[in-house]
Amino acid sequence: MKLLLPTSTAGSLPKPSWLAEPEKIWSPWALEGEQLLEAKRDALRVSLQEQQHAGIDIVSDGEQTRQHFVTTFIEHLDGVDFEKRETVKIRNRYDASVPSVVGAVSRPKSVFVDDAKFLRQQTDQPIKWALPGPMTMIDTLYDGHYKSREKLAWEFAKILNQEAKELEAAGVDIIQFDEPAFNVFFYDVNDWGIATLERAIEGLKCETAVHICYGYGIKANTDWKNTLGSEWREYEKAFPKLQQSKIDIISLECQNSRVPMDLIELIRGKKVMVGAIDVATNTIETPEEVADTLRKALQFVDADKLYPATNCGMAPLSRQVARGKLAALSAGAQIVRQELTA
Ligand SMILES: [Zn+2]
Repeated sequence: MKLLLPTSTAGSLPKPSWLAEPEKIWSPWALEGEQLLEAKRDALRVSLQEQQHAGIDIVSDGEQTRQHFVTTFIEHLDGVDFEKRETVKIRNRYDASVPSVVGAVSRPKSVFVDDAKFLRQQTDQPIKWALPGPMTMIDTLYDGHYKSREKLAWEFAKILNQEAKELEAAGVDIIQFDEPAFNVFFYDVNDWGIATLERAIEGLKCETAVHICYGYGIKANTDWKNTLGSEWREYEKAFPKLQQSKIDIISLECQNSRVPMDLIELIRGKKVMVGAIDVATNTIETPEEVADTLRKALQFVDADKLYPATNCGMAPLSRQVARGKLAALSAGAQIVRQELTA
């Protein structure tokens, strides 16, 4: 990418009320069948247009085509029973009733490839597509078959690799794997988490990213953050191995977070999507606040490798707030771009 400081979002954007109940996370669809298919595509067009209007450089579908960043993918796989539910603790944080792995997992057909082709038809801009990472996938399931987190992660990595290759062929420029679980299971991350992620990107020629965050602005996450102390050093555990990995881009939460910015030094050489928009508040950042975060990050990441982004997805926010935040991201990046080229 030749443009300095290309902007993008970490993931989801709000859905229109005719598609799903607004300002609610993982909200169920308001339509079904053919009507739902058409509504998802209309919403994708609107979401894309809003990103373009705000001046976002690397655009996405705003995750208008999925209800949940992990389960929508898993719903399309064989070997998982959505009727047989068990209660597990997600990311060591909150209990949830989750589907069970009941047999060998496989992907009978592609999951998001048609949606990605549709997005590709709508724009010539670089496009980014998000998939769940293997470790975050296994953390959202009860495994009654493999009975090994690691074994199941390797199986998912193979499946993700099949999907990623088809997304690449559909014209996706950056494939992003969402791995919030990397901020929790440090031993597993280093033991097999990063290795399974590398299996998921094997043979890809497009760029690849991993998004590691402190989650949406929901209560379970804000309560958890309150227990983390004055400095959030979770990234420190995974960064040295990620720096050595084949992943091109690392997407991080930096705005209003207690992550010490100098941790980014540990991934020097990688491209860094710096979260400069807080998704856990309705307060819209000023462009100057965004610029300030980017300037701080520039101490630890070379300018040609800095990608301004949001901390996480914005699905639970109002459309108006999300629009304002996209515009602030764009304007803040522009301030720093001018400083860099002056
Ligand atoms: Zn996130």
